[in-house]
Amino acid sequence: LGQGILVHQNGRILAANKSFCSILGYPEELTSPHRHVDGIAEFELSQSSSTQKRKLALQLMQLRRITGQNFTAEWKMPNGRIVDVQCSFDGEFAVETYTDVTEIRDRESLIAATMATVAQGLLIHDREEILASNPRLGAMLDIPPSLYAPGKSWKDLVRYRGERGDYQDSERHLQDIYLAFGTGNPLSMESRVSNRTLLTECRVSRGVMFTTYTDVTEARIRERKLRATERKVRKLVEVDGLTDLANRHTLDQELSWRLDTHINGIGANELVVLSLNLDRFKNLNDNHGLATGDAVLKELGTRLKRLVRKVDVIARIGSDEFTLVTELDAKSDAADLANRLLRVTRDPVQVGGLELRINASIGIAFASQELNTTDKVMAAADMALQQAKSEGLGLVRHFNAIKAEQTRKKQSLEQDLIFALEREQLLLHYQVQRDLKTQVDVGYEALMRWEHPDRGPISPAEFIPISEETGMIVEFGRWALCQASSDFASFDESTRIAVNVSPIQFMKSDLVMDVRQALDVSGLSPERLEIEITEQLLIEDTDKTLNVLKKLRDMGLSIALDDFGSGYSSLAYLTQFPFTKLKIDRCFIDRMLKDKRSSSLVSSILALASSLGMRVTAEGVESSEQLTMLVQGGCDEVQGYHIGRPLPLDRVAKK
Ligand code: C2E
Ligand code: MG
Ligand code: MG
Repeated sequence: LGQGILVHQNGRILAANKSFCSILGYPEELTSPHRHVDGIAEFELSQSSSTQKRKLALQLMQLRRITGQNFTAEWKMPNGRIVDVQCSFDGEFAVETYTDVTEIRDRESLIAATMATVAQGLLIHDREEILASNPRLGAMLDIPPSLYAPGKSWKDLVRYRGERGDYQDSERHLQDIYLAFGTGNPLSMESRVSNRTLLTECRVSRGVMFTTYTDVTEARIRERKLRATERKVRKLVEVDGLTDLANRHTLDQELSWRLDTHINGIGANELVVLSLNLDRFKNLNDNHGLATGDAVLKELGTRLKRLVRKVDVIARIGSDEFTLVTELDAKSDAADLANRLLRVTRDPVQVGGLELRINASIGIAFASQELNTTDKVMAAADMALQQAKSEGLGLVRHFNAIKAEQTRKKQSLEQDLIFALEREQLLLHYQVQRDLKTQVDVGYEALMRWEHPDRGPISPAEFIPISEETGMIVEFGRWALCQASSDFASFDESTRIAVNVSPIQFMKSDLVMDVRQALDVSGLSPERLEIEITEQLLIEDTDKTLNVLKKLRDMGLSIALDDFGSGYSSLAYLTQFPFTKLKIDRCFIDRMLKDKRSSSLVSSILALASSLGMRVTAEGVESSEQLTMLVQGGCDEVQGYHIGRPLPLDRVAKK
């Protein structure tokens, strides 16, 4: 036994074990049977190492042995070791045990010291009472030591804090702890002590609850600040600073998220994007200043936000561009919604004493199998918006896939057309014109061709209108004049070359100068150059047109009125302008044989032209029957596939 044991009867030793002597440092003879226990005390008192305190302890023990009273003590031995003493009497018998508890006490004091130094408050309790705690706990919870001393009831501590208002519901807190005892699950909660925040964490082990209290006040403040900063940053990233509406980034995200759920069949029937753009907002900015413009945008933002539902996304994605993403039960509801948006936009806006009226246009697009990405739906809504804008102010238009495809094609052609000239994709073909009386080929018409690198030859009927819209026709026309002139300068002196001139080119450039330059550079004589104009030009600016045409006539050029009969065909033009030739549109030649009205129209044009002293060319002659009829009618010249197709220069026979 590691424990020292001493048994005696009426003061006489009955037995003692070896440990008794070794723990207390006595020689074994002292414990020989029948010796009196007093001998032990006497031996120790005679030792010089014995202290006053030790002597008192031994005397107290002697007294207890004589009176036969139980007693317990803890001795600190001169060698520094701590011995737990238990002495119990049973009539004349006494059993004494001596246990060396030095290590246990060391550990305990180490634990106590540790508990005292940690920054956390510690509380250890079983189901009833507090087993241990540290002083830090008192300071942290601001409670008197009597509440947390070992042996006290921890429930009293909880109730005390409950009354003070540390918890919202202290009974609930107690129940939570009981529950944790039952389940063994850890528990964690926060409570307040005055202005500090404490994190309480409880862990149960073998029926004992270990609770730590950590002051997280600073951490929580830091977290709150961080969250506030995060919110601010998020706002910067997600929100349009001026109107507080969503910005483009957020719109993209929200729309893509909604598209995902919509494609999976979640939500209402229709997911719709409405693009709203203010009409002539630039004018407002220019006239009243940017600050006024900003105030208007802000006000409109508020109105739009008020109109839409909370679940909708309303964003400002450009200076005066707003986008609404919403869900509808039926497609037919969209126009109604758009009109409501327009109404709130149109309500007068008051800014610094001004009353401003704003109008807007709206484009609508629905998500679909084809329009299934953010980019596609947004582009569709935008196209619809452009459509609305092109038709007027304050209009609402739906996306139209067919029109969009045409627009897209046209736009891509437009892009390619920009480089057509410098990349030498434009060329001229020449179609022969024959004099019917002499049967001689008297001239050629230059017809422009575009050899597209991917799409092959593109008809002038398609690309000339585009180049007119963009203004590129000016360059193209100038080029055609120069190219045709130089191609034909070396031809037979009597061969004429006809070049088409667009009304746009006519109005936008100095045609007289362009012609002069073409003649100068090529050396072609002006009598051999003919320009073809259309009736469209004659109604544009009569004075300017007349003036230019006269100058060209004076220079010696011929002037042909192209496609005669297909447009306004005002007879007044014929007397007013100095034409040398009329070209009968090929649609009449085409119908001439089948349709009496067309043939009589051709006859009247021929008669009219001859009375006015103009020559006539019939365009689009495709058969010998047509040719015969024209010969009989007295037509001067013919042009058409029957005589010759438009050909590149090297295939046009030089005479
Ligand atoms: P246009 O000036 O009336 O030219 C005659 C058009 O009729 C040409 O079409 C020609 O190829 C076509 N044609 C000639 N004979 C026949 C025939 O027997 N049957 C049929 N079905 N068609 C025939 P193209 O070359 O496609 O040119 C179309 C139009 O594009 C021209 O009509 C002209 O308005 C314009 N264009 C062509 N080149 C130029 C140019 O250099 N400048 C300008 N401004 N316009 C041009
Ligand atoms: Mg022509
Ligand atoms: Mg023509």
